[in-house]
Amino acid sequence: MVLAQLGGSITRALQQMTNATVIDEKVFNDCLNEINRALLQSDVQFKLVQDMHTNIKKIVNLQDLAAGHDKRKIIQQAVFNELCKMLDPGKSSFVPKKGKTSVVMFVGLQGSGKTTTCTKYAHYYQKKGWKPALVCADTFRAGAFDQLKQNATKAKIPFYGSNYCIAVPSFLYSYMESDPVKIAVEGVERFKEENRDLIIVDTSGRHKQEAALFEEMRQVSEATKPDLVIFVMDSSIGQAAFDQAQAFKQSVAVGAVIITKMDGHAKGGGSLSAVAATKSPVIFIGTGEHMDEFEVFEVKPFVSRLLGMGDLSGFVDKIHDNVPMDKQLEFLQKLSEGFTLRIMYQQFQNMLSMGPMSQVFSMLPGFSSELMPKGQEKENHAKVKRYMTIMDSMTNEGMRDR
Ligand code: GDP
Repeated sequence: MVLAQLGGSITRALQQMTNATVIDEKVFNDCLNEINRALLQSDVQFKLVQDMHTNIKKIVNLQDLAAGHDKRKIIQQAVFNELCKMLDPGKSSFVPKKGKTSVVMFVGLQGSGKTTTCTKYAHYYQKKGWKPALVCADTFRAGAFDQLKQNATKAKIPFYGSNYCIAVPSFLYSYMESDPVKIAVEGVERFKEENRDLIIVDTSGRHKQEAALFEEMRQVSEATKPDLVIFVMDSSIGQAAFDQAQAFKQSVAVGAVIITKMDGHAKGGGSLSAVAATKSPVIFIGTGEHMDEFEVFEVKPFVSRLLGMGDLSGFVDKIHDNVPMDKQLEFLQKLSEGFTLRIMYQQFQNMLSMGPMSQVFSMLPGFSSELMPKGQEKENHAKVKRYMTIMDSMTNEGMRDR
C-alpha cells in the first residue's frame, strides 16, 4: 500500500531509538536523519521535511529535559505531532448540509481518478441520506460522459451531460452539446429545480497542466459558483505534486483535496505535499476502483495508522455504519473485554460485512498490515473465512476457554 513503506521506516527509526540504552544527542539525530531519509525517499517535498526536522529539534531539547522525563515518549509524540501538522492546513473545508443545495466542482488532471471519485463522493453522501446528482462537464475526453453515466446508473444517482438521453414513454430525447460551461450551468439549474441537495460537477482534465484546462475550469467555476472545489490527485504523482497542486490552486479556489489510488504501490509521499501547496485539507482518500473503496480522511487517525498504532475511531465509525444499532454497544463491550474464540468468531462475522478486510484490520492496533495485505481482498476474505472454519471444528469448551 502507498505509504506503508514510509510508515514502516519511521516506526523502525523510532524503535531503534527506543532500543538504545541511553538517548543522547547522537541517538536522537540518527533517528531524525532516518525519518528524513524515509520521507524524502517517499517523495515528500524537501522543504516540508526540512521544516519538520527543524521543528522537532526546537521542541525536543535533550539538554533541557530534566531527569525523569521520558525522552522516548517526548520524541515519539513530537514526530507524531509534526507529521500531523504536515497534513493539517489548520482549516477545515466546506461540508455540504443536508436539505440545502450545495454545488461541488471536481478538478484534476486526466487519469487522476476524478470521474470515479465524483461517483464515490456522491455515493458516500447518498448512503448518509443526501440527494446527490452528477453533472458531466467533461467534453474533452471521449467516453467521459459514458463512464459517468455508467457509474451513476450503478449507484442509482441522477446524472446530466452531453449526449444526455432520457427515455420518456412516448419519445426519446437526445441532447448533444460541446460547451462544458453551458452543460455545467444547465445541469446545475436542472438539479436545483429538482431539489437535489448535493450537485457534483465533473470537469475536464488534460494530460498535463496547460492554459486551456485552467481557462475552462475558471469559466465553469465562475458560471456555476461552486460552494467547494475539490482537487483530485493521484498518489503516484511523486515530487511534481507540490507544483501541480499549487497551479490548480492559483486558477480556481481549491478548498479540499482527495488523493486517489492509495491502494497502489506508488511511494505516495508527494501527494502529501498537496496539503501544503493548496493550504486545503485532504478530505477523502481513494483506496480502490470500487465505489466503496473510499475513506474519510482524518489526520490523526491516518498518522496513527501510518505508524502502526491503529485507528479505533475509524473502527468505531465502521461499526456504526455496518452493525445493527441494537447490537453496537454489545459489540464494543465484547471487544473491550478481550477475546475468547467464541467472541472472536462473532466479531469476524460482523467484520466480514464492514468492507475490505485490509482496511478493517489496519484500524485495529497491533495488527500488522502483512496479516491482511491491501489489494488482496479476495484472499483476505478467504483467510477470515478459513479461521472461522477452523473454529467451527473446535469444541464448545475450546471456543470458550481460549
Ligand atoms: P479521470 O480521467 O481523472 O476522470 O480518471 P478516471 O476516473 O477515469 O480514473 C482513471 C483510472 O483510475 C480508472 O481506471 C479508475 O478505475 C482508476 N481509479 C480511480 N480511483 C482509483 C483508486 O482509488 N484506486 C485504484 N486502484 N484505481 C482508481
